[in-house]
Amino acid sequence: MTENQQIVLDNRPQGEATTSNFKLLHTQTPELKDNEVLVRHHYLSLDPYMRGRMNESKSYAVPQPLGEVMIGATVGEVVESRHPKFNPGDKVVGMGGWQLYSLVDGNAISNGMLRKVDTTHVSLSYYLGAVGMPGVTAWYGLVKIINPKAGETVTVSAASGAVGSAYGALAKARGCRVVGIAGGKDKCDYVVNELGFDACIDYKEHKDYISLSKALREACPNGIDGHFENVGGMVLDAVMLRTNAFARIAVCGMIAGYDGAPIGMTNPALILVNRMRVEGFIVSEHMEVWPEALQELGNLVGSGKLRPRETVAQGLAAAPEAFLGLLKGKNFGKQLVKLI
Ligand code: NDP
Repeated sequence: MTENQQIVLDNRPQGEATTSNFKLLHTQTPELKDNEVLVRHHYLSLDPYMRGRMNESKSYAVPQPLGEVMIGATVGEVVESRHPKFNPGDKVVGMGGWQLYSLVDGNAISNGMLRKVDTTHVSLSYYLGAVGMPGVTAWYGLVKIINPKAGETVTVSAASGAVGSAYGALAKARGCRVVGIAGGKDKCDYVVNELGFDACIDYKEHKDYISLSKALREACPNGIDGHFENVGGMVLDAVMLRTNAFARIAVCGMIAGYDGAPIGMTNPALILVNRMRVEGFIVSEHMEVWPEALQELGNLVGSGKLRPRETVAQGLAAAPEAFLGLLKGKNFGKQLVKLI
């Protein structure tokens, strides 16, 4: 038996989420049964999708049940094992949730199954970001939906974040002109100077989509062939005005509306006029691409072509505040919580 700490969803948000939606519990891990593995988490990943799970409304996934440990990806180390495939000391990635330890069925086959990882060239925390679910998300939208040719111009919103930063490296590797959209000068400087994007536009400097669209015209003199949408609202409206004929838009996230208010689209007729393909996707529904995507992402990180940035909150109790910050853009790069 090991002392554990867990954060559960205590009640559902009405509008904006608050720290009072969560509750910290002190518990003990149960005895291990055959085929079970006890994992001590080193890092917890905080991701925007968690906000959707806090609501009761119908979505692509079931809501987070009240009173249960918040869902979340984790990396850590096996501390005890009654499964032949796992040994103490193994570094693993899984869906351990917002807690210090998780007890996992080593045979479970699901999106969150426990997987050993190699930390020789890629540090453990990167398996929650660039070489994990966010990286694969960027890969799927770029490769399977936008499918750009060398020389095409592609854009992405929330460009400095976990998904956006991986997207930039993947698109540069395919010979594209890559333009980011992000909030603030620091984020835009990082996107251009450290991530190697060709340009980045600070959307906070623009009061409406027309103004933002003018800035996009300068950064994308040949128009936009592919766009990866993480935000929605004004950003998407501005991009749509600059799209070329047969542009592809991968709709990955709509974080501007995660508190529940519907987000409008100003000019949907452009989908017809520019013969656009607009396609939403959920990365966990495409497990078949993960091995190929992770291989490429691991190579990009290992070779230094992708240098992801992380914002790390310290200790489980800091998770709710850090999560709310992520929804307001306070994170810079992948948002993590360090648990050891
Ligand atoms: P990020 O690391 O990019 O963090 C979120 C960023 O979104 C913030 O830093 C902020 O950047 C931006 N943001 C937050 N609120 C707003 C707002 N109201 N208006 C504009 N921008 C805002 O997160 P991820 O990289 O993990 O995720 C990016 C997107 O991808 C999210 O929308 C997420 O839901 C989606 N996603 C979808 C998946 C799928 O399968 N479809 C899988 C994984 C992620 P800034 O300061 O630049 O505004």
